[in-house]
Amino acid sequence: MTGPVDRNAACSVKWCDEAGTHKVHRKYVASVPGGIRGGGLVGVNLAQRVQPRASVCVELTVTTPWASTAGHLFAAASVQEIAAALTEAAERAAELDSTTRGRRG
Ligand SMILES: [Zn+2]
Repeated sequence: MTGPVDRNAACSVKWCDEAGTHKVHRKYVASVPGGIRGGGLVGVNLAQRVQPRASVCVELTVTTPWASTAGHLFAAASVQEIAAALTEAAERAAELDSTTRGRRG
């Protein structure tokens, strides 16, 4: 697309993907269709509130067709623990699921 709008004119933060007025600097890292039956997108972003001394956080957003987008900022230091817990929960869910489905007789 071409136009008179300079992408970088809106924000002085180099890594920020947002244009126009925004309250949070944001870089979109990944978007995963993580909902049941494809209902919903989970977004992972780098985010930093536009305020003095705000730290760069990891933002998780959930977008569904039936509700407005919800997001939460996580301190970067805690993300590894959250990720480990998510992985563990997913493993257990898969395990429970296969136990339930695999039952015969
Ligand atoms: Zn920005």
